Amino acid sequence: MVATTTTAAIPPTEMKAMVTGSTIDLIQSLRYYGPKQLKVEYVPPLGCKSDEVRLKIAYCGICGSDIHEYLGGPIFPPKAGHKHPYTGVQLPVTLGHEFSGTVIEVGSNVRNFSVGQKVAVIPSLDDRHYGAAACFACQSEKRNLCEKWATYGLNASGGGLASEIVVNSVSCIALPDNVSLKSAALVEPLAVAWHCIRLSGIQKGQKAVIFGAGPIGLAILMLLKAMGASLVIISEVTDMRMQQARKFGADHVVNPLAGLSQTGGTLAKDPVTALVHELTNDQGVEVAFDASGLQSTLDAAIASTRIGGTIFNVAIHEKPLQIHLNDLLLAEKKLMGGICYTEEDFNAVIAALRDGTIPAEEMITSIVPLSKAIEGGFLELINNKAAHVKILIQPDE
Ligand SMILES: [Zn+2]
Repeated sequence: MVATTTTAAIPPTEMKAMVTGSTIDLIQSLRYYGPKQLKVEYVPPLGCKSDEVRLKIAYCGICGSDIHEYLGGPIFPPKAGHKHPYTGVQLPVTLGHEFSGTVIEVGSNVRNFSVGQKVAVIPSLDDRHYGAAACFACQSEKRNLCEKWATYGLNASGGGLASEIVVNSVSCIALPDNVSLKSAALVEPLAVAWHCIRLSGIQKGQKAVIFGAGPIGLAILMLLKAMGASLVIISEVTDMRMQQARKFGADHVVNPLAGLSQTGGTLAKDPVTALVHELTNDQGVEVAFDASGLQSTLDAAIASTRIGGTIFNVAIHEKPLQIHLNDLLLAEKKLMGGICYTEEDFNAVIAALRDGTIPAEEMITSIVPLSKAIEGGFLELINNKAAHVKILIQPDE
């Protein structure tokens, strides 16, 4: 993989003449140079190799991890002056890993895609992308844990916050005719949620509590209701996200801080745990998903889970939390975690979109042109976070 050529902010028309002396279409691209250093630029397109396809990008979502990179990165992209050990990319990198698009060029060895096809993209790279032998994770159908893991839009060549991208054909999944390109840009975050649900082992008719109604918490909620969970309780502290949780089908929404002001900061029992026990005949739920990652949510997740149940950690933690392992041992509970997704998860989400079992497009709270992605996307998600579930970025014509 080769990084895109660094170019300054030169008007596109002049740039075209400078590149070749003739006309080639330049790529509109949101490029990350470091914390709080994003630029919308026009860069020359990359070649399309024999096993790759070129996509005209339709929509790309902004992820919480993109915001973390903006505020305090580089976390996943290489540090200034360094190359990524597997992909070789250097700063600046094009951001965006939640995207959909249409095939506009097909490499000479690609047989399963054709020009005009609409696709979702699994942004994770694994051994196949480097032509390397499969590592233990890849042999175990856990390509999301590949030792050479990287991802388009953070630390591989190209990203979804651009007008086009060249990706390996194994990264693409063709969309059914009735799945829109808007919905397809939501497949990646929905696949994160489905991966956790699948690993948790929860079954139709069982009960769950979800801590945190951000985009991933809401995606878990929507998919649990679609698969037939009999009870889903949401714990959330902001009013706007509590409303979103009700809209996406939560059976009960509870604020864990409710009542604190009346009692001067101490409660006899956590309100979430109390409600879970009230609604489950004092048994607890089969699975508690922690999408907040706080000490208080981990404690409540353990306390809300029934005998033999599962506490599933979805959050990325900045520091270690405390846990008394007797709380697991004495009730034979399981503590698990999950990251990203595999092709199986993408296929399951696309099937749900095809069958119309999840109201995915209701997650979209704003669609912003790429030229306005910084103020209308990144800064909006920082300054007005609770008002949004998912902001999609659309390349300017
Ligand atoms: Zn691997």
